[in-house]
Amino acid sequence: MSVLENVKNMSREEMLTCMKNSGIYNYGLTQQPLVQSVTLALKESAEEGTETGVIAALNNADTDYLLLDILKNDPERVLEGICLAAKIMETSNKQLNLPEEETELYESLSEIAKKYDIKLNKGIVDIRKAKGSLLLHIVTAKELVDVFEGCYEDGVYLSINGLTLKKVKSDTLIEDLLIQAGFKTSDVKALLCGYEYYNKDAIKKTVGELGITNGVLRVLTDKDCIVQETQKKLLASRKASCGKCVFCREGLIQLEHMQKEITEGRGKSEFIDLTKEIGEAMCYSTPCTVGQVSSKIALSAVEYFPDEYEAHIKKKECPAGACKAFVNIYIDPFLCTGCGECLDVCPVDCIEGKSNYIHMIDDFDCTKCGKCIAVCEEKAIIQSSGKLPKLPNRLTKVGRFKKR
Ligand code: SF4
Ligand code: SF4
Ligand code: SF4
Repeated sequence: MSVLENVKNMSREEMLTCMKNSGIYNYGLTQQPLVQSVTLALKESAEEGTETGVIAALNNADTDYLLLDILKNDPERVLEGICLAAKIMETSNKQLNLPEEETELYESLSEIAKKYDIKLNKGIVDIRKAKGSLLLHIVTAKELVDVFEGCYEDGVYLSINGLTLKKVKSDTLIEDLLIQAGFKTSDVKALLCGYEYYNKDAIKKTVGELGITNGVLRVLTDKDCIVQETQKKLLASRKASCGKCVFCREGLIQLEHMQKEITEGRGKSEFIDLTKEIGEAMCYSTPCTVGQVSSKIALSAVEYFPDEYEAHIKKKECPAGACKAFVNIYIDPFLCTGCGECLDVCPVDCIEGKSNYIHMIDDFDCTKCGKCIAVCEEKAIIQSSGKLPKLPNRLTKVGRFKKR
């Protein structure tokens, strides 16, 4: 018998008691007991005179979509959970929002959603229009079924560096998880937990302490650039933002622009304070999680990794060697044999040379793609982030270049 059949004769009060006893909370950023979310939505609907309903979705700020796997793996269970919530709310207004770009998932769910009389929407939830409705996280929808089937267990969903999503107990140590997954903890430079960075000391904390609400546990090593990663996340948030609030729209543009400038060698010292100022203002001046939490990634980056910012801005160096603007690729005049292999593979024709002459790279046009490095058997093409050695300034025969 389906869970919906099982609860057919239960009253709202009986269902709320069952939920309360299970300890289920609304997943994601809300982190409040689900009973409380229901009570607040009903109160809001009564006060505002708005129609109530159930809107299931990921958090608006979630741009990683890892938790969508729960819906993809067992869509019926999530849709049944939405129906259970609708029974508690005593509403027939049931909706499920999917990220705009998930067109395949949207198509694959359209038939089954009809069966449960659930309206599918694309894009983030419009918080202003959702007043009086229960905002139900997709994970919570699935777990509501667990509650009424008597198998609900508290825990946190996470995926380490994009590996398979799994649910772990809140008191699990991050260090234990990393070791189980085969990571060398000595390699950890930073952790991205949910929407915030932490320094490597965080491996001694538990999963519950780090607030992973979107499934993201990312391990960053010395090869990952914090500024570059931050810029990418902010760009994803910019794309997710509906742009209706000035602080979110303009704040994300400014934050992303400053990180990009820094990675491209045009960073200024005042960008650090500006990042803090704009990020903090966004946390308090925006109505939905896109503005409220996406700035936290930038705030935590400047808080925990000031040295990386300083290296980019003042020393014009990327400690991870990941920002192309700070990478030099040059041909060692003492190793080049003038074979011409590199010249043939360069996609932008920025290598100059002829047979038996030392080849030269035009740094202005070089995209730092690294293709030439891969073909040079003499290992004469060097990638470095330091000062360039003395190089020929005109074509020179192999063996004729002098150090002075
Ligand atoms: S905070 Fe951003 S995404 Fe949310 S409503 Fe405002 S502009 Fe839209
Ligand atoms: S840099 Fe390497 S691949 Fe290019 S001409 Fe010199 S030896 Fe040949
Ligand atoms: S790194 Fe790429 S663009 Fe630059 S010289 Fe080599 S092949 Fe050409």
